[in-house]
Amino acid sequence: LHPRTHLSKESIFSRMSRLAQQFGAVNLGQGFPSNPPPAFLLEAARRAIGVVDQYTPPIGLPRLREALAEDLQVAPENVVVTAGATEALHALAEALYGPGDEVVMFEPYFDVYIPQARLAGATPVLVPMRLEDRWQVDLSALEAAITPRTKAILLNSPYNPTGSIFSHEDLERIVALARQHDLWIVSDEVYDELYFEEAPTPLRQLAPERTFTVGSAGKRLEATGYRVGWIVTPPALAPLVAGMRQWSSFCSAAPLQAAVAEALPVARREGFYSALRSSYRSRRDLLARGLEGMGIQVFLPQGTYFLTAKFPGIEAETLVREARVAIIPGAAFYADHPAPEGLFRLAFCKKPDEIELALERLERYI
Ligand code: GLN
Repeated sequence: LHPRTHLSKESIFSRMSRLAQQFGAVNLGQGFPSNPPPAFLLEAARRAIGVVDQYTPPIGLPRLREALAEDLQVAPENVVVTAGATEALHALAEALYGPGDEVVMFEPYFDVYIPQARLAGATPVLVPMRLEDRWQVDLSALEAAITPRTKAILLNSPYNPTGSIFSHEDLERIVALARQHDLWIVSDEVYDELYFEEAPTPLRQLAPERTFTVGSAGKRLEATGYRVGWIVTPPALAPLVAGMRQWSSFCSAAPLQAAVAEALPVARREGFYSALRSSYRSRRDLLARGLEGMGIQVFLPQGTYFLTAKFPGIEAETLVREARVAIIPGAAFYADHPAPEGLFRLAFCKKPDEIELALERLERYI
């Protein structure tokens, strides 16, 4: 086997989900909803099976590209459909950088970013975001991380695991740096509809010529297993990116592409995302209030369905076995620096009664 197979190590998210199942724990670890997807998506998926069953073009089912273009207010020619956001990020890594190149990203980071850069042969360069700065980006540290080898800046807003959102002004400064150094921007916006105050600025609006936006039907429509994601590319680059992914999955599941094409306009028209935001806001507050009531320090997220909190003296693998609550250790999001002492990420995309059960179990344990 090639030495790169050291990257095949089970991810922390899969591991905690497996342990949660094994010990009958409430799973506040891996970020997937425990409620079913909306009926309008399920019905569209049932209708598509038996009708849209063969390969689609690698660039995506035409009607899904049209629906995405309409929803995101971009040109359909610039849209590529992928097998989830994970494949989107992988295809971009393959298309944009290789040996000798550096990719600037932030720490804490979402787990796929580093292995994907390494698989492409590139070197990830991590710019720290500090809890003491409320996870805000340090623009001078970002500038200092850019070298003549830097090919791209990879960022995520709303941000997993911190739940922070890059301000419009910070994004403008990041764009200015990208223009000055002629860098691509890969903007992971899978939580674009999951914000609690102001809506995040889509980076492609500030720098359409160099931004690749990554999105996810799994996150938006509560169906993470459907593996329908997308990329909005700068003009004229979509065929090239689609040409890269034809060598991996070729296309995303055809009937599910058709289902998402039908569901996207319904979600927009029926106010599905605002209902989702208010439901997540109340689950976020339920979890935060419960934890704070136990004396745990909570850092409220501005977006995503994750919150971070400090549980000093606790260990995730012991917690899942003994308290039967699964959460993700902060260390999973750090490579260059130690994680802040006692930091954990908790997913609140779970039913309120599961959140309450987790709180009861934690209260008894702590
Ligand atoms: N995005 C999910 C999370 O952060 C996990 C995705 C995965 O496990 N591939 O929990």
